[in-house]
Amino acid sequence: MNNKYELIYEGKAKKVFSHDDKDKVLIEFKDDATAFNALKKAQFEGKGRLNCLISARIFELLKKNNIPTHFLELKNEHTMIAQKIKVIPLEIVIRNTAYGSLCKQTTIKPGTLLSKPLLDIYLKNDELNDPLITKDRIALMNIVSSCDLDLIIDLTLKINVILKSFFKSIQLKLVDFKLEFGYDFENKILLCDEISPDNCRLWDLNQKNGTIVSLDKDRFRNDLGGLIEAYSEINRRINDFI
Ligand code: UDP
Repeated sequence: MNNKYELIYEGKAKKVFSHDDKDKVLIEFKDDATAFNALKKAQFEGKGRLNCLISARIFELLKKNNIPTHFLELKNEHTMIAQKIKVIPLEIVIRNTAYGSLCKQTTIKPGTLLSKPLLDIYLKNDELNDPLITKDRIALMNIVSSCDLDLIIDLTLKINVILKSFFKSIQLKLVDFKLEFGYDFENKILLCDEISPDNCRLWDLNQKNGTIVSLDKDRFRNDLGGLIEAYSEINRRINDFI
């Protein structure tokens, strides 16, 4: 990134830079991949670009459906211009099909279709290993008001309806995904972070024999190989559709 922009924050998968407009930031998507709270790390050339392009398309789709997001426009293929926000330290996970940690922590079998979406909230705190958290604990820690939490939950459920139907139309099953929200300069709640195969589980619906083919970060988590091919396939299907 051009050094006229100051690095404000570097996360595991993105770098955030200042923008000429103080209410905006530049978000650069990195090729780094981490899993299991960064115990497992690797680099995949081209991942940052693919996640940036996929996220931009999904944010545009959500905006069209009246979901407030931080996304403004692409600066280039691996950098987006976004509203500057104060991130709320919660990770909102919504699940349509049981997989991952849900099956490790309960007796629910992987692949079970849930009769209604399950919403799990985690505290965004690497030192504590992002623990599952309750509404009462969120209130106790004064993270957000109960009214704002209800708004976040309502937005998440709406986003799930939009994305489930969108991904189905490109032959992908939206198993689960993680969202983050923040406050803009007017204290308005906006969807932020990214929506990409790094934080969504997407299974290929083109499989005839019912085998699970993950086109998401599980390819890295579970050493399946072919991560860039999977992310490219998702980007291709999105571009062919929109
Ligand atoms: N997820 C994420 N970041 C995290 C944890 C989970 O983006 O720090 C996403 C993950 O990609 C999946 C969903 O949230 O789409 C549910 O993940 P789960 O709780 O099953 O955790 P995991 O199996 O990844 O440990």
